[in-house]
Amino acid sequence: MIIAVDGPTASGKGTIAKQLAEHFGVPHLDTGLLYRAVGHQVWLDGGDPDNEEDALGACSFPDELLEDPELRSEATGGLASRVSIHPKVRQALFERQRAFATQPGGAVLDGRDIGTVIAPDADVKLFITASVQERARRRWLEMTGRDLEIPLAEIEKDIVRRDARDINRKDAPLKAAPDALIIDTTSFDRDEAIEAAIEAVEAAVSP
Ligand code: C5P
Repeated sequence: MIIAVDGPTASGKGTIAKQLAEHFGVPHLDTGLLYRAVGHQVWLDGGDPDNEEDALGACSFPDELLEDPELRSEATGGLASRVSIHPKVRQALFERQRAFATQPGGAVLDGRDIGTVIAPDADVKLFITASVQERARRRWLEMTGRDLEIPLAEIEKDIVRRDARDINRKDAPLKAAPDALIIDTTSFDRDEAIEAAIEAVEAAVSP
């Protein structure tokens, strides 16, 4: 069973995808991490994330980079959203994601274009969303918990900027597949969001 989980930043899609993988006993791939690794590698190389060739060169990042905690930072998230605009970067990362999706036994992948590009044949497609204000609040809480003091308004501005870049890019923009089930988690806590997603998958695959 292939489960595609797409949605904007801080919508809860990562947590949901991880829990779905555990619940249904299939492996999980956070595809955003691949774009984050490319963004961070460009920076390590002293390259320009807006230059397609520089970003393409960074696609051969070493696998150990995926373990680097720096990949989770806001700065790297910004770099990831810049390198992910380039069609050559998306092409370079396609096979790796496709192979993960089509492995025997199935998989859960979360990202922006799983249901539309990577696995349009997925058995279940979820599109997780929440209001900008709620996503900013969650990100702010998460950062405060890590002793990172960033004003809420700044986080909100960054989320709006990243959404715009992801939605408006020509290649594989962030959008729900026509057959995706949309789950708005604005008024849900973590457990409610996970429960809604598990129920949606069960309903979708039940005969
Ligand atoms: O999901 P995450 O915030 O880690 O993703 C970082 C960035 O990588 C996103 O803002 C998006 O631009 C890009 N991305 C993408 N396609 C995916 C996953 C992430 O373009 N499948």
